[in-house]
Amino acid sequence: MYRTHTCGELNESNIGQKVILAGWIQTIRDKGFVTWIDLRDRYGITQLVFDEQRTDKDLIEKARKLGREYVIQVSGTVIERSSKNPNISTGSIEILVEKLSILNESLVPPFTIEDDTDGGEEIRMKYRYLDIRRNPVKDKLIFRSKVAQLVRNYLSGKGFIEVETPVLIKSTPEGARDFVVPSRINPGQFYALPQSPQTFKQLLMVAGLDKYFQLVKCFRDEDLRADRQPEFTQIDCEMSFVEQEDVLNTFEGLTKHLLKELKGISFDKFPRMTYAEAMRRYGNDKPDVRFGMEFIELNEELQNNGFKVFDEAELVVGINVEKCASYTRKQLDELTDWVKRPQIGASGLVYIRYNEDGSIKSSVDKFYSEDQLKIVINRANAQPGDLLLLLSGSTKKVRPQLSALRMELAERLGLRNPDEYAPLWVVDFPLLEWDEDENRYLAMHHPFTSPKPEDISILDTKPGEVRANAYDLVLNGNEIGGGSVRIYNKELQGKMLSLLGFTEEDAEAQFGFLMNAFKFGAPPHAGIAFGFDRLVAILGGQEVIRDYIAFPKNNSGRDVMIDAPSYIYKEQLKELNIEIIKD
Ligand code: ASP
Repeated sequence: MYRTHTCGELNESNIGQKVILAGWIQTIRDKGFVTWIDLRDRYGITQLVFDEQRTDKDLIEKARKLGREYVIQVSGTVIERSSKNPNISTGSIEILVEKLSILNESLVPPFTIEDDTDGGEEIRMKYRYLDIRRNPVKDKLIFRSKVAQLVRNYLSGKGFIEVETPVLIKSTPEGARDFVVPSRINPGQFYALPQSPQTFKQLLMVAGLDKYFQLVKCFRDEDLRADRQPEFTQIDCEMSFVEQEDVLNTFEGLTKHLLKELKGISFDKFPRMTYAEAMRRYGNDKPDVRFGMEFIELNEELQNNGFKVFDEAELVVGINVEKCASYTRKQLDELTDWVKRPQIGASGLVYIRYNEDGSIKSSVDKFYSEDQLKIVINRANAQPGDLLLLLSGSTKKVRPQLSALRMELAERLGLRNPDEYAPLWVVDFPLLEWDEDENRYLAMHHPFTSPKPEDISILDTKPGEVRANAYDLVLNGNEIGGGSVRIYNKELQGKMLSLLGFTEEDAEAQFGFLMNAFKFGAPPHAGIAFGFDRLVAILGGQEVIRDYIAFPKNNSGRDVMIDAPSYIYKEQLKELNIEIIKD
């Protein structure tokens, strides 16, 4: 037997017992007459003691030669500690060691394996297996496992069955680039890794499985942002004979269950907002509604007054930043520079300070009288001491710009409280969005999403105005889930693909298998997928998904631990019929 107990298990009730423990050495404190070792495993830390009066001399010598992260096994007696540590569960006892075996030695680790480490991000990623020995990382993986269990139990309890779908497939249109895998036995042909199991889960509905779910890896070759990973996990779900309302209720139920079990927070009904309203009030289809700072559209109040910038804009819109009228000129200049950065792209920022004494000072005083600005202040419901910040331009550009500013200010002002949870359904997304570069419509969700039946009549005449039966679940400004009611009729699916610019041949080549399946009695169906990594991170009180993934990739999509991606041997390339073109 390697151990009778774990390192997190023993306490005062075990005093006097003979035990065997095994684990890693976290620290050795050699005080001459007595040596202490902190022995660590997944469950905790137990203090070992070797002292001149009670321990065999050779054993003390052996203990002194040990190093950090050595793997050892000890037998000994549980004794009471003289100076107790109330911060850990084993803090009142220690083990008086009688026997010690070294199970494995260790090099000196490249960083200290303690809660507060001296290791930078890069080195910890390279030695991720050592980083996982640290509580802050290990605890996140344990938390992730717990969320996965809750999801599985909840959905299984509701009659969903977990089905695995293939990883080597044909392209799935989720709007990103595919990762491809060459086929050796089919020279020149490639599999694509699934961006999601979308078409498979629809086929499972045609197959009659009725309720499907899967915790599944998805792969998207996108330009990476700090919170994106090229491979990520979804809770992917699909249901038959349901309407949008059924899906929303089912997955609101799942989310409530998670919030209750993990956070102890109960929710009544989640609020809902249409896409159009979310864009108008927050400039964003995933608004963080934990705080206000809602958009105030000011075309009527501020246009046709000789201020060209506003007069020529499609939209003049502002936010009221409470209690920030005291911002100095320097702070305002800095904010102006912030919105002018290429990532945001605004051309300038107008401010109206509503000072504590009731006076008004703005960057557009030349163009507007105090009375006019007062009207704006009233519209914004601003109080003395508040600051109004305004942007203008084309609606399509100015909304995301002001939304970014709103989020930045909320971050700086501490309004994004990680202990508060504000879920929201955003519904009625547009079916299509115009792509300037490609000069054609793209599916806003994906090509299998059903238009709202009442909008089908304008599909040909005003495609841009057609709304979809598509929905997103938003939590604290993050899209944690999204889905739609699907098209299950072959003709409508064909029409949708042609709107998206597919020729009949292309549609047949890419999605013939699905349209064919629709000829064999496809039930009405709908579904949703949750971004599992992000959901776990948010429930864990953080937004960085990387921390909740055992072996994540870095910002350049590299796994620096195993050094992937990497070159492959010439022979492998030859076998795959692939030639690398160097320029
Ligand atoms: N396949 C979709 C996605 O990955 C989700 C869905 O429509 O169910 O976003």
